[in-house]
Amino acid sequence: ATACQSADKVQTYHRDLDIGERSRLTLEARLRRAIDQHELELWYQPKVDGRSGRLIGAEGLVRWRDPKEGLIPPGHFIPLAEETGLIVPLTNQVLDLVCADLSLMHAPGLSPVKVSVNISAAQLDDERLPEEIAQRLSSAGLSPLDLELEITERALMARLDSVLGTLSALHRLGISLSLDDFGTGYSSLGYLGRFPIDELKIDQSFVRDLGTGAADEMVVRAIVALARGLGLWVIAEGIETQEQATWLCANGCEWHQGYLYSRPLERDAFLQLLDRRAPPPWNALPCLSARS
Ligand code: C2E
Ligand code: MG
Ligand code: MG
Ligand code: MG
Repeated sequence: ATACQSADKVQTYHRDLDIGERSRLTLEARLRRAIDQHELELWYQPKVDGRSGRLIGAEGLVRWRDPKEGLIPPGHFIPLAEETGLIVPLTNQVLDLVCADLSLMHAPGLSPVKVSVNISAAQLDDERLPEEIAQRLSSAGLSPLDLELEITERALMARLDSVLGTLSALHRLGISLSLDDFGTGYSSLGYLGRFPIDELKIDQSFVRDLGTGAADEMVVRAIVALARGLGLWVIAEGIETQEQATWLCANGCEWHQGYLYSRPLERDAFLQLLDRRAPPPWNALPCLSARS
């Protein structure tokens, strides 16, 4: 009986593996086709200056519009894309999308802002990346100053030696670099000052409990001081409440991104925000209340 049982178990185990592998392959094949069929979209989440309430930028976030399943968030396919190498054509498509959308944002009558996109770690090893991005921008008639890249702190720290050349080339081109999810990646502070980075983006995990006296408040204060000391911009992401925003303003972080202001918007909805004759749809002005 024991032998039978364990044989059963082995069989079940194999069957599970099989199904897992098969659905993974299906997803990979589907994602490959989605890229070919241009089923990826970029949605844009506003970045806001908490002092003036003005739109200061936006982050482009990829979504996969599957004909059957609808809109699929990046957490469901970016890790697979990274494992399978599909991240290369995927990123190329994201770059095409952001250039096409930036051209629309620069149409007469609109006040364009700088837009960022996320770049996966492995691509920083590709020395051709800066030139490819520069080519895309110039053939769309855009300036490198229109684009920012977000790179996770974790990705940078895992590749300290190999990515410096790529980052420096991007920096020389005038493309801004923001260190995403900052505070979660065990930075070597010594290295930080030597990298051509423009901005630290405070991870949303630290933002969650701000204003409640939690220990994270000390971490955020330290990141703001670090940014100031190194001459970097600082922005906080994942701001959902007025309390979080007010705390950040009172502690020197005035650039904000989060649901408090706006969720990521479809391209056309975002384009409407660039028509400055209309007031922004958010009414949060947290830095004013921080002062009063
Ligand atoms: P991220 O770059 O840190 O982006 C922030 C994520 O937080 C986004 O999720 C955004 O929608 C979400 N978010 C924004 N404000 C709030 C808030 O107030 N509360 C909460 N709870 N969440 C908020 P999203 O769009 O699902 O993207 C997840 C991650 O996928 C991104 O994290 C980024 O690492 C990755 N990603 C997105 N687009 C791309 C892309 O084009 N290429 C690559 N390589 N990665 C991407
Ligand atoms: Mg990001
Ligand atoms: Mg982030
Ligand atoms: Mg994050």
